[in-house]
Amino acid sequence: MPDTLTHTQAMRYNRHIVLPQFDIDGQEKLLNARILLIGMGGLGNAVAQSLAAGGVGALTLIDDDKVEQHNLPRQILFTDADCGQFKVDAARSRLGALAPDCRITPLRARLSDEALLEQASQHDIIVDCTDNLASRRQINQVSVQAGIPLISGAAIRFEGQLFVSVPGDGKACYGCVEKRFHMAELSCNEAGILSPVVSMIGIAQAHLVMQCLSGFGTLPTGELQLFDGLNFQWQKFKVSPHPACDICNNTAE
Ligand SMILES: [Zn+2]
Repeated sequence: MPDTLTHTQAMRYNRHIVLPQFDIDGQEKLLNARILLIGMGGLGNAVAQSLAAGGVGALTLIDDDKVEQHNLPRQILFTDADCGQFKVDAARSRLGALAPDCRITPLRARLSDEALLEQASQHDIIVDCTDNLASRRQINQVSVQAGIPLISGAAIRFEGQLFVSVPGDGKACYGCVEKRFHMAELSCNEAGILSPVVSMIGIAQAHLVMQCLSGFGTLPTGELQLFDGLNFQWQKFKVSPHPACDICNNTAE
């Protein structure tokens, strides 16, 4: 039986519940949701904060990095006192204070394909907040294998990127995106990142998680959304499944 909201929770999330497209059903879907969040950098911080505060019932956080001082401008859950701690542990203690009802499971690890697939199968949605192509490929593959929706985000310099895929809907996966668009392998260490850009993309990922869970409006699946922070503009591109994508094998052009 799914959990139902207590009276206290219904009061706490009242401003969600009064939205007719969200309602008590939407909030209860959040309450019963288990979200797998991979990467606790700037994107992961914003996603975790927004989902935990917004009433998501369970978050699993995966990252093997420790907090460093140069993370603090954009990794908004951490303080100077957290430097040297594992990010997932520092995030758990901060999120525990922010949203005591949210069950946080921290995993200090970089998981193998098998271990990640095993984790994914115990969750409803995967949120990719990693910062490199190898991880993105692994996560996309696991999303398709496990049949679990993937909300992917990326940010570098003044640029942000969002992509949502729902396996089984016949639309493009992240592997198709990679075949159609050149995805540069850049690191924020060398290229830089403006703090609000990464937070914006993370908050947008949290929004898409809530949309995917509760079903309001139209989920922008199979669409690559790009943010250009130099001119403050969004662009979107419809991505068809790529015939040579060996991950999803969605050959319908
Ligand atoms: Zn594909």
